[in-house]
Amino acid sequence: MTDPGAPLVGVLALQGDFAAHRAMLEGLGAQVREVRVPADLDGLDGLVMPGGESTTMTLGIEREGLAEPLRAFHAAGRPVFGTCAGLIMLDREHLAIMDIVAARNAFGRQVHSFEEDLDLGLEGGPVRAVFIRAPLIAEHGPDVRILASVDGRPVAAEEGAVLAISFHPELSGDTRLHERFLDTVRRLRDG
Ligand code: GLN
Repeated sequence: MTDPGAPLVGVLALQGDFAAHRAMLEGLGAQVREVRVPADLDGLDGLVMPGGESTTMTLGIEREGLAEPLRAFHAAGRPVFGTCAGLIMLDREHLAIMDIVAARNAFGRQVHSFEEDLDLGLEGGPVRAVFIRAPLIAEHGPDVRILASVDGRPVAAEEGAVLAISFHPELSGDTRLHERFLDTVRRLRDG
């Protein structure tokens, strides 16, 4: 039985790693809806933008007319959680939901993928972060709070109800970032 009080969370499902996010969110008791067209955003309490390939995701957003509805969703105060390519989609040069500029594939040709223990100030200690051709936050405005960096390069940040990270929390088995997002979703829905 689904808990009727469970938050209803969308996962942008045009492309990329949405199924793993769905599984993790459902494991934490959320109801999940895959978002492919603007009407899918109706009634959602929050939205996850997964990793994948930002160029393909941009084309999908254009094709489905999702850019304006996604901006309106954020403007209505709903929490958004962007990971990897999802972080890129949030930046000034894409949806402009967050006051950041992402640099794509920023960790150099020599390291397409790596893992690192990242201290995000979460209870239970550092998070094992999986980076796959990851972006970094090259610029950010004054309202953006940097939560973690790798070699001095920001990889996790929040601005209001928006959380953006360069790595893949859905692949590590560590559910704390999704829990943190769901806490924000519940607080804003019930508050
Ligand atoms: N390198 C990808 C891009 O630029 C992002 C990688 C990812 O989401 N794992 O879109």
